[in-house]
Amino acid sequence: MTISRFVSTYAHDVRDPLTAKLAPFGTTIFATMSALAVETGSINLGQGFPDTDGPSEVLDAAVDAIRSGQNQYPPGLGIPDLRRAVAEHQQRFWGIELDPDTEVLITAGATEALAGALLGTLEPGDEVVVFEPMYDSYQACIALAGARIVPVLLRPTPEGYRFDPDELRAAIGPRTRSILLNTPHNPTGKVFTAEEMHQIATLAIEHDLMVITDEVYEHLIFDGRQHLPMSTLPGMRERTLTISSGGKTFHTTGWKIGWISGPQPMVKAAMSAKQFLTYVNGAPFQPAMAVGLRLGDDYFESLIANLADSRDRLHAGLHGAGFTVYPSEATYFTTVDVTPLRADGDGMAFCLELPHRIGVVAVPNQVFYVEPAHGRNLVRFACCKRPEVIDAAVERLVTLAN
Ligand SMILES: *Cc1c(COP(=O)(O)O)cnc(C)c1O
Repeated sequence: MTISRFVSTYAHDVRDPLTAKLAPFGTTIFATMSALAVETGSINLGQGFPDTDGPSEVLDAAVDAIRSGQNQYPPGLGIPDLRRAVAEHQQRFWGIELDPDTEVLITAGATEALAGALLGTLEPGDEVVVFEPMYDSYQACIALAGARIVPVLLRPTPEGYRFDPDELRAAIGPRTRSILLNTPHNPTGKVFTAEEMHQIATLAIEHDLMVITDEVYEHLIFDGRQHLPMSTLPGMRERTLTISSGGKTFHTTGWKIGWISGPQPMVKAAMSAKQFLTYVNGAPFQPAMAVGLRLGDDYFESLIANLADSRDRLHAGLHGAGFTVYPSEATYFTTVDVTPLRADGDGMAFCLELPHRIGVVAVPNQVFYVEPAHGRNLVRFACCKRPEVIDAAVERLVTLAN
């Protein structure tokens, strides 16, 4: 994460204003790669945002909300109707019962939910166990909280990414406060299996840990696999904070409406930090998101079918190009090993060259690791684009094989 596009213009007698806590993180790779996509006119399969609008009922509800004057600060917890819609959704899809008045909090996307949960529950010196690779904000938020990240490696195998249960057990120590879990998982496309979920839950109970779960891809699971929320496992409800958002599910990543649910003391802890981050956000988008969460099953089914089709098209291109392709069970993402196409296995160099070579942008996985060397040879492609865009990218990708 050190490929900053900014050159310091400070005179030598001015102290660098950047805090040491954030200095290691540089500019996010998404800013860098998306800028490169624009600069070179490339197809951007780097950043995971859809290129089509969400359901019209949801868009219309936001327009109506703006026109009917829902443009001032909403309540601190979020509007009551959206909190009810979140509780209904958790009951409808996962059988989780929640009190919308005390166990649900609306946030500025899952990103702020994560920040609130981590800043609200961690003391300086606490340790958080996280599977790597990981979504890039995890490491930065844990650092902002003054806590320490303890990574457990997910290793690519032909059957998908796996962790070693002994390594997970060994990562937990006297300072461990929580496990931060993301399933379905970005960037690997992994869905944690029921067995893995039970292993994690057993350790959390044994060591009295909190589990913070990022489930923003809860609806984007392929091939008949099932999402298993951590809070539904025996003994886990009282120690699990569940995070999700509408951006991925409803193709509204720019709206930044997310939510946290779980036991009241944990939601309250997250709220304590969240109220001083944004306080509130997205007044007209909150009622619109409630409409989205209440859409019929047909919406959620066609969402999966369309995305699975895009994944299959992308996979064909990645195989055709000659990469080692790892299975994608869920999410927008597929990861590949570039070594067959680049003997030195330098994924960062590969991604920086790719837009100039064939006009396609991907993201080097090394930025998702605490120890970048662990993901040096891996690269992530997103499939959340229109079929014709994926097909155009595939045409370009297969030329790499020549
Ligand atoms: C996109 C994403 C987020 C951020 O969600 P927002 O609602 O846009 O803030 C969080 N976690 C993961 C794993 C993601 O892929």
